[in-house]
Amino acid sequence: MKLSCLHTHTNFCDGRDDIDSICKSAYGKGLVSLGFSAHAPLPKDSGLESDWHIKNDKLYAYAKAVQKAKKTWEGRLTVYLGLEIDYIRGIMGPGDPFFKNLGLDYSIGSVHYVLPPKGAKPFTVDGPFEEAAEGIKKGFNGDKEAYVSAYWEAVSSMIDAGNFDILGHIDLIKKNNQHEEFFSFSSEAYRNAAEGTLDRLTGTPIVAEVNTGGLIRGKTTDCYPSLSILKMMKTRQIPVTINADAHRAEDITGYYETARETLKEAGYDTIQLFEGKSGKEARWSTLPL
Ligand SMILES: [Zn+2]
Ligand SMILES: [Zn+2]
Repeated sequence: MKLSCLHTHTNFCDGRDDIDSICKSAYGKGLVSLGFSAHAPLPKDSGLESDWHIKNDKLYAYAKAVQKAKKTWEGRLTVYLGLEIDYIRGIMGPGDPFFKNLGLDYSIGSVHYVLPPKGAKPFTVDGPFEEAAEGIKKGFNGDKEAYVSAYWEAVSSMIDAGNFDILGHIDLIKKNNQHEEFFSFSSEAYRNAAEGTLDRLTGTPIVAEVNTGGLIRGKTTDCYPSLSILKMMKTRQIPVTINADAHRAEDITGYYETARETLKEAGYDTIQLFEGKSGKEARWSTLPL
């Protein structure tokens, strides 16, 4: 299996290592390509604060540094410039014109925030457990079902809005639900919500990632998405790629074998390898798993 990772964070955002150390690690592990995907900056007027998004004033330095690594590693490792862009309805999304002018090779669309009704502040589903618990209590009046459906609706709206190449960690909401504190994974409501979102994804040019970041950081016991969702995806013939969501150089390709086995169990026998873009369209080659 040709290895690649298009979901990688550096010390420009919340990753630990610099671009070159990560390239060295990726080259050492035999990757054919490596994409950097800093968390895209939050809009200045969003009222949201975070210590994990790249700061606006560092964005151009980041793009320049990745472009430099492209040249340094040419012929040994194909390096791509990307961003992981949050979708927060009314605040930001992968389709924002601002991101179109950065010369990105690709982008990952991710939902980390849910937007409670009645104008309460968005909060992250994957931050500290207390933040999610507090958000549900205050923003959703304790209605856990409404929280779950707000999450899946956000992923669906992001898919409908399009303008990105890879769908990041589709079931991120499970990170703070490891012991089913907020919902049951086997409940009809959860499964139906996931199926509804996958129906929207079907037939789009978006490739879904199998993300091993939760396993790497000991936050989950399986990949994003879980086997049950991968099976739903396979039924719909949704193409997939494997990414580590690495925040340290050594984590590149972490748990890829688990991802591969899970994909096989779900019925997949191929994955997609990113080959750059022609115009607006991402080019992918299909590889045996
Ligand atoms: Zn993410
Ligand atoms: Zn990430």
